[in-house]
Amino acid sequence: MSLAGKTAVITGSNSGIGLGVAREMAKAGAHVVLNSFTDRDEDHALAADIAKEFGVNAKYVSADMSKGEDCRRLIVDAGTCDILVNNAGIQHVAPIEEFPTAKWDAIIAINMSSAFHTAAAAVTGMRERGWGRIINIASAHGLTASPYKSAYVAAKHGVVGMTKTIALETAQEPITCNAICPGYVLTPLVEAQIPDTMKEYGMDRDTVVKEVLLARQPSKEFATVEQLGGTVAFLASDAAAQITGTTISVDGGWTAL
Ligand code: NAD
Repeated sequence: MSLAGKTAVITGSNSGIGLGVAREMAKAGAHVVLNSFTDRDEDHALAADIAKEFGVNAKYVSADMSKGEDCRRLIVDAGTCDILVNNAGIQHVAPIEEFPTAKWDAIIAINMSSAFHTAAAAVTGMRERGWGRIINIASAHGLTASPYKSAYVAAKHGVVGMTKTIALETAQEPITCNAICPGYVLTPLVEAQIPDTMKEYGMDRDTVVKEVLLARQPSKEFATVEQLGGTVAFLASDAAAQITGTTISVDGGWTAL
């Protein structure tokens, strides 16, 4: 599958799934625009490394996805946005009565509203060029819930709903909008939770992974960032031109339970 000549903008892509998606897009021949809210040499170096490895154009644009104006500026600074991957996300876990309002606001802004702003800014250019793909990285928590994750579950369900609406608004154009719903993916974010959980439960790593982290993931295996990248590449391909307004679960069977 070739995405040669297309430009993919991936929010929150200096680590984890976003970086994995950026690499898979570049592997498929797309130029890539990486993003996070920092502006460090190592952020720009990630883009330079991708450009060198895959022979595509790659740049890093610093923009804070908690701010609507930054989300819209990202699309302008990208130059072209044929494939928009809304991936930036954060998490906070607390019971509803203790959930800090500032965390609620940040999760709703970064995990949900950013996708509204970037899509709103990108869709006009997609229409002008006659082709576009909007791919939102939601979550199994866009389809199901867990306790203590009120803001995250609300934001991810919101993203799934918005995905359907954008798909209907673009249905008669060569633009699609879909959401990917991953179960647990072994990113640095998840890896960092393992040592503490081992201590808390007095379990070894393997038992923590299978019985705590992957308790709801029937495959008992993490999804990988490469698998997420491959799913994004599929949704960007011609084979997926009639797939719009839906979700694809990459969750080892979580939502079949
Ligand atoms: P991660 O922490 O490795 O990556 C999150 C990315 O978002 C980072 O690049 C970070 O810099 C960026 N980011 C955070 N706040 C930002 C802001 N204000 N502006 C711009 N960028 C910002 O986490 P991840 O596991 O790779 O998660 C990526 C996405 O996948 C998130 O939306 C997450 O909800 C979703 N997801 C992850 C899992 C999982 O198990 N890892 C499962 C389901 C869904």
